[in-house]
Amino acid sequence: MKSYYEMLDEAYEKLLEKTPTRSFRDKLEIPLPKVSYQKGWTVIVNAKEFSQTFNRDLQLIAKFLQIEYNAPTRVDSNTIIIMRKVSMEGIRERMKRFAKEFVICPVCGKPDTSLIKRNRILYLKCMACGAESPVLYKIK
Ligand SMILES: [Zn+2]
Repeated sequence: MKSYYEMLDEAYEKLLEKTPTRSFRDKLEIPLPKVSYQKGWTVIVNAKEFSQTFNRDLQLIAKFLQIEYNAPTRVDSNTIIIMRKVSMEGIRERMKRFAKEFVICPVCGKPDTSLIKRNRILYLKCMACGAESPVLYKIK
């Protein structure tokens, strides 16, 4: 039979297993897009800030915006250029959609996730709860 102290140790160990070793954000603070216009193009000046907040590649965000706006996009020294004139408010909405599709865990709602590809399917892996959810948004 186990002693009281052994049981206490075990209980404590279980508790430690459930506590993540690093802390995760509860929710995503999506930055406001800073936009400048050049020759009918839209430049997202603080694209890097989005990339860091989402923990996603600038190229992926640019690709997403390309599909959303049906216009060519390009990454240029930490900015994203959309070769069309679009509103700041519109970009803000798209960034929220990006977060919903590619960043926020649909199981627990937390934003510390990574993208993994398995059998050509993209999954969102949550660092907080461990869930893996397929990304439904079609991105080539
Ligand atoms: Zn989760």
